[in-house]
Amino acid sequence: MLFDEWPITNHQSPITNHKSQMTNPYDPGIENPASAGMSVFMGNSITSALIKVIVHVTLLSLVATGHAVGAEQLRAAIATIDITPPIPYRLCGHFSERLSTGINDPLLAKAVVFKQGDRAAALVFCDLAQISLDVSTRARARASREVGMPVEHIAIVATHSHTGPLYFGALRKHFHERAVQKHGTDIYETVDYSSELVEKLATVIGRAANSTSPVRLEAGIALENRLSFNRRFHMKSGAVRFNPGAQNPNIIRPAGPIDPEVGIVTLSAADSAEHVGAIVSFALHLDTMNGTRYSADFPAVVQDELRRSYGEKFASLFGAGTCGDINHIDVQSHDRLTTQQIGTMLAATIAQKMPALSPLENVSLAVRSAKVNAPLQTFSSEQIAQARDNLNNEQPRKLTFLERVEAYKILAVDLRAGSLPMEVQVFRLNSDVAIVTLPGEVFVDLGIAIKTASPFKTTLVIELANDGPGYFPTRRAFVEGSYETVNSRVKPGGSEMLVETAIELLTDLADDAP
Ligand SMILES: [Zn+2]
Repeated sequence: MLFDEWPITNHQSPITNHKSQMTNPYDPGIENPASAGMSVFMGNSITSALIKVIVHVTLLSLVATGHAVGAEQLRAAIATIDITPPIPYRLCGHFSERLSTGINDPLLAKAVVFKQGDRAAALVFCDLAQISLDVSTRARARASREVGMPVEHIAIVATHSHTGPLYFGALRKHFHERAVQKHGTDIYETVDYSSELVEKLATVIGRAANSTSPVRLEAGIALENRLSFNRRFHMKSGAVRFNPGAQNPNIIRPAGPIDPEVGIVTLSAADSAEHVGAIVSFALHLDTMNGTRYSADFPAVVQDELRRSYGEKFASLFGAGTCGDINHIDVQSHDRLTTQQIGTMLAATIAQKMPALSPLENVSLAVRSAKVNAPLQTFSSEQIAQARDNLNNEQPRKLTFLERVEAYKILAVDLRAGSLPMEVQVFRLNSDVAIVTLPGEVFVDLGIAIKTASPFKTTLVIELANDGPGYFPTRRAFVEGSYETVNSRVKPGGSEMLVETAIELLTDLADDAP
């Protein structure tokens, strides 16, 4: 663990000693010399493929190296921090006000930091429904300053647990203002959760960055087709409906696929065969718990189960696959899989695959990030006022579910103030394995499209990174309608921009791989 191998404290490193020539709209270079340096490198090593990307991308960072990539030993560490809010605090995941009443299992943020030579990257997995753009921007900027890693090399993702806190957005704002009106203060928000979260995220990244040691990686894909179901269905009426109910006789067929792939990347100490942790990704909505106790949902069970095989310290870092239209409800049956069953079965699938994973040769860590400005839906000031009015005065007529969803969506779009920057990141581990992170709740077809086009043998696609701007449905789904499209802020076609950008970044990193 030699800190001087790593330019955290060395501002003469090639990454940090240049001045920016580009504006980084996320985090101005003034605050972040590291990211400023990255921009300079882009200018030096730009390729024709990249020029294409830049046309619709406002930010792009890439690592260029002056020496043979892959020559240096990969180092890594995993650190964990508790991010459970106090009780009571509002719970997320539903459109009614719910208060937490206890802790089933603690909410955690788990960071993995990779370092190779002068390159570094961090992924943080949080037991939360969403990460707000505000929190990710502040946490990434702070971690970047503190550990000397470019902002664009840090991804903060939410697992999508529906039994975590409601701490931002239009729904939270509505309940918050109502509480202030009634009590003079919001008695359910006794802490500034966002600020506490920022501090904890920076801390956990710092802890991992300061404790790396040489590691070995293995990766592969397991298949699991017993747990996930596409939740949108073609109905006899000709409509498409989400969650039409068990054994609904009007169901014709699912309106989309599932993604049975379980992406796995394991970490072991370089001189040991024992696994210390794994990044695991699977496309299944984390809404299996119910109740009002904080819980990380089935990934907590996955970790418990894997610890039985791999030891008490084994860390399972779960990243939600593109599960915008995927949940655990089998409409052919009235029985529903429990959180425990789902976690146990998924862990068994992972454990069964572990001995057959491929070791990663010639590790060549690199990160690219691009920001796409998605076309945001637009609403008139009358529509915004009407939405607010509808939510404030739900008497004498209660709003229908979709009317309520739409009202919150309109207010959420209003909070975005006209722009929806969507950041796509790709983390290359070697010429065979890459991890893609996307913002929001992404339809499964889009994740499958990225994996299918990816030049990497193993590609993990993880959603809800750095921002939670609602659903990203396919163009086709926008025509079909139903809940997810009503709860979407982008215009049709905006989601496909994520796919296009991810594929370009993947292709570029593959071309550049040693
Ligand atoms: Zn969701």
